[in-house]
Amino acid sequence: MDCTRAKIAVLGAVQGVGFRPFVFRLATGLALNGWVLNSAQGVFIEVEGPLDALQSFLTRLRDEKPPLAIIQSLESSFLDPIGYSGFEIRFSEEKGAKTALILPDIAICSDCLQEILDPANRRFRYAFTNCTNCGPRFSIIKALPYDRPNTSMKQFSMCPECDREYHDPTDRRFHAQPNACPKCGPHLELWNASGDVLAREDAALLEAAKFIKEGKIIALKGVGGFQLLVDASAEFSVARLRTRKKREGKPFALMYPSLDQVRLDCVVSEMEGRLLRSPESPIVLLTRQLRESRVAPSVAPGSPCFGAMLPYTPLHHLLLLELRFPIVATSGNLANEPICIDEKEALNRLAGIADYFLVHNRPIVRHVDDSIARIVCDREMVLRRARGYAPLPIRINESVPSVLATGAHLKNNVALSVGRDVFVSQHIGDLESMPAFAAFRKTAVDLPWLYDVQPELVACDLHPDYLSTKYALELGRRVERVQHHWAHVLACMTENELDDPVLGVSWDGTGYGSDGSIWGGEFLLAEDGSFQRVASLRQFCLPGGESAIKEPRRTAMGILYEVFGREGLRNHALPPIADFSEREIALLEKALDRGLNAPVTSSAGRLFDAVASLIGLRQRVTFEGQAAIELESVIDFNIHDVYTFQLSDDSPRVVDWGPMIQEILLDLQRGESAGYISAKFHNTLTEVIVEVAREIAQSRIVLTGGCFQNRYLLEKSIQRLSQENFKPYWHQRVPTNDGGISLGQVIGAARAARATTLSAKGAAA
Ligand code: ZN
Ligand code: ZN
Ligand code: FE
Repeated sequence: MDCTRAKIAVLGAVQGVGFRPFVFRLATGLALNGWVLNSAQGVFIEVEGPLDALQSFLTRLRDEKPPLAIIQSLESSFLDPIGYSGFEIRFSEEKGAKTALILPDIAICSDCLQEILDPANRRFRYAFTNCTNCGPRFSIIKALPYDRPNTSMKQFSMCPECDREYHDPTDRRFHAQPNACPKCGPHLELWNASGDVLAREDAALLEAAKFIKEGKIIALKGVGGFQLLVDASAEFSVARLRTRKKREGKPFALMYPSLDQVRLDCVVSEMEGRLLRSPESPIVLLTRQLRESRVAPSVAPGSPCFGAMLPYTPLHHLLLLELRFPIVATSGNLANEPICIDEKEALNRLAGIADYFLVHNRPIVRHVDDSIARIVCDREMVLRRARGYAPLPIRINESVPSVLATGAHLKNNVALSVGRDVFVSQHIGDLESMPAFAAFRKTAVDLPWLYDVQPELVACDLHPDYLSTKYALELGRRVERVQHHWAHVLACMTENELDDPVLGVSWDGTGYGSDGSIWGGEFLLAEDGSFQRVASLRQFCLPGGESAIKEPRRTAMGILYEVFGREGLRNHALPPIADFSEREIALLEKALDRGLNAPVTSSAGRLFDAVASLIGLRQRVTFEGQAAIELESVIDFNIHDVYTFQLSDDSPRVVDWGPMIQEILLDLQRGESAGYISAKFHNTLTEVIVEVAREIAQSRIVLTGGCFQNRYLLEKSIQRLSQENFKPYWHQRVPTNDGGISLGQVIGAARAARATTLSAKGAAA
């Protein structure tokens, strides 16, 4: 029987309530080996055994916990076994001051939910109800220690009843810093677009619900920022929100009144249901039901998934209870800007987008977006780490110097290491606008300040033009630059607790290569503390450079030119060629001949774009990854065929996808379906991974980079690698997209610093 290790961190009211003996009984009852450790930071558990026993351990850990124990946060990952024998209760080895953990914002608990629905309770319908076990944390903390005067609740002085609860050790609200009630706490207001108050308190909520029913767009001040809400079934209203927000194709998230209603539109497994109802309460990517849905087509055009979540604050619960139908709940911003957190600012920045504003007077200290997660191969995979997760650390195996990593350009976040903890900040976004860069700078200062750490080192990307790189270089500290795809590999190795040697498959859209070219389809061998680029996809030219990212048809032209030369641009029956005018084709040909504004790339992401264009799915995109998502959505799951490819003996080896493109054109001529070609294309890429793994003769394969957000590619690669006796690893707690780069940069910089120290010692000896 295969043995796996589960590594679990539990935070909450789990100390002194019989939690450790409970864990001991549960583990030994399931014949699992390992240990449980109580520390000032929380309860840490490692258990080993068969996967189904571990899954049942995780389920029962939440369901059967002692009555007084409250789990506020539970993060688990599945790792290689160590070979524990027996189960032991370990004692905290920690000495001296330990970094205090700041809890994330978590969903309302069942006790508080009951209170707001109980007409006899003094918090009946009160939208800011919370207790020690639930409510806002990270989004209201100004400084440590976590006490009311250090939060944005400082301005509200507690009424005698709340004060009594706060000081009563037997009360559920003992030392609940955001404790509040209708008498003394924050309250709601409904504003029109000019900021005039239309209604207050419960009337504001009811009025807002009425407007949503009428198809209006409401900006709601939530826990970590504004959300834009609209009736998800009203096509006209959803389309209007897209136009106003300047967000053309990117799917919107949905908030459902109940899990039963989610099931009407999506396939929900038991694990997915648990994730939806967890205290973290992320947006969960779910496969759509095949039948007709009441959700408007404009919500997620061309996507095989819906991003769904359940209400997580009292405010959301009360609103959805009133509506009883799903709503679009998307971040309150203009495309490419960070989420709004202040109501005065929102009136200005969301002017022309929202019709009404449902606001409150509890200030938000820092923005925290909704998180995004999905279940892959029976494991959670976090794709955007924000509310519910940030700023919990990723625990690593050894202490590292304190490094501040400034992350990537897209899906940016920053990270800070303190001892054995790497604190990954909340998702910031694409650093494409001045407001986004301002949010980045604020977070890069905020994180070290919160934890009171002076970073010894700053880590950043190799790309000289990234704003995050420029920022790092201007700090005047020692800087380590970490190659983008290497950072992806290190992030995945770190969360899977892997050491060298490992073969990293690092596939994404774009990253600055060590040789100055654009990388993106890389095989990096992690060896002796550093990496070697052992294989890569065949390079081709991107006519128009950056603009090719927006136009898959340009990428397709680059591919055709690479395989067939000028002749490749003459087949006017091909969708990308048909999409250009004669004059444009002549210009493209000239640019490709001379290599003008046509940078070379080995990008895997662009290969997806090119194939989507060749088979006529999409010639232009409105967000990165759109063409790949549509290519994935048409896959015919019954097709197991593959195309031909070649692997050279060079160093680095080159994966030649030329024969595949020739065969795709033949399939098109034969009139094969998009679903057939797409399946064959995906299958080919997984065979490429298996073949390179064989050639490099590494058994441990790390799958990382934005391309592995593609569920079919990831699951098929895992399945094929396992069949061929390789051991595949992928992301769980940290995003596989560029949201994982900052963690990788921390580790890369720490490795480089260690190498420098060692060589300095060597020189001295
Ligand atoms: Zn509560
Ligand atoms: Zn009160
Ligand atoms: Fe990347």
